[in-house]
Amino acid sequence: MQIDASSPVMVTGATGYVAGWIVKYLLEAGVTVHAPVRDPGNADKLHYLNRIAESTPGTIKYFKADLLSEGSYADAMAGCSIVFHTASPFRLGVADPQKELIDPALLGTRNVLEEANRTSSVQRVVLTSSCVAIYGDSADLAQTPNGVFTEEIWNTTSSIVHQPYSFSKTVAEKEAWKIVGAQARWRLVVINPSLVLGPGISPHGTSASFDLVRQFGDGTFKMGVPDMHLGAVDVRDLSRAHIAAAYLPDAEGRHIVSGHNTTFTEMAGTLIDKYGKDYPIPRRAMPKWLTWLMAPVVNKDITRKMVSRNMGLPWIADNSKSKRALGMTYRPLEESMTDFFQQMIDSGAFGEG
Ligand code: NAP
Repeated sequence: MQIDASSPVMVTGATGYVAGWIVKYLLEAGVTVHAPVRDPGNADKLHYLNRIAESTPGTIKYFKADLLSEGSYADAMAGCSIVFHTASPFRLGVADPQKELIDPALLGTRNVLEEANRTSSVQRVVLTSSCVAIYGDSADLAQTPNGVFTEEIWNTTSSIVHQPYSFSKTVAEKEAWKIVGAQARWRLVVINPSLVLGPGISPHGTSASFDLVRQFGDGTFKMGVPDMHLGAVDVRDLSRAHIAAAYLPDAEGRHIVSGHNTTFTEMAGTLIDKYGKDYPIPRRAMPKWLTWLMAPVVNKDITRKMVSRNMGLPWIADNSKSKRALGMTYRPLEESMTDFFQQMIDSGAFGEG
């Protein structure tokens, strides 16, 4: 696939886990990347991106913008042919879901896409949605045709009180389809990743992906992991999917980008041979009744409804469109997990750095 480096592109959330790799691949291809960030003066936060920019042919330019500040993406978007909209908070334990999740996801998408309407150079917007815009709970699989999640399906069961992060991604993606449908100049291509794993450009990421994998090594799950079935994808593979979505002329619609239908137990199992001697890697799944009883006591964000409708239930998604339309190949789960875990050890996440 040919990356056209002749015009600049904009990447929202460039300081984030997923966007970091997208920016890296763009800079390696010689692209000029416009990076609107909340705090362009925060040298620590931009350090890892700047280091990549120093050793690659591309250029990165920072702008100040906020998802909640209307019109703030105008300067960054000016002259760009492609907009990657990745910025959206991925956090599970929030006090105020409306303010901390739904507003930045929904109003942010509206803000960025309405700016695309006003910016005549924009030809394509690649939106980072999620598999959680496709399903709410694993239990929803029982209602899906053939018991497989596909791009045809939408999450109908999440709400502000039940799975608010999933709800935020669903309403944001719906809004994006509404906005693109009202005009004809630019095209929307949507990426729906499952849980993202693998090393960050910055080893100190704040995405919930880091929190989860850290817990496989810090003793949180030493009695066993919840029997959770889910999809997983490597952050490097996912970033390649975004690049393909941006530059393949025929890319269109939604894409499930998920390398593996897996479980927490299987994910932890990939770490046992290499790290099991030195870290309390979980070796078994907790019985569902015990998870149901204990989860809200240990972590108030994991409700009994969430346990009932997810633990021990299968999760199967069809990733064939991503392979067919975006040319995706997926690296082994073990590689994503060990590269991620090793990065955490090296950066002192478990206290030895
Ligand atoms: P992340 O590391 O937390 O990145 C989120 C980015 O959004 C950060 O750059 C953050 O900027 C920015 N952001 C948050 N609120 C903002 C605001 N009000 N104004 C401007 N920027 C704001 O999370 P991630 O895991 O990379 O997630 C990136 C995207 O992938 C999200 O759309 C997420 O929903 C999606 N996704 C992630 C996963 C996963 O497993 N990680 C799975 C499926 C989909 P600051 O640096 O300023 O905080």
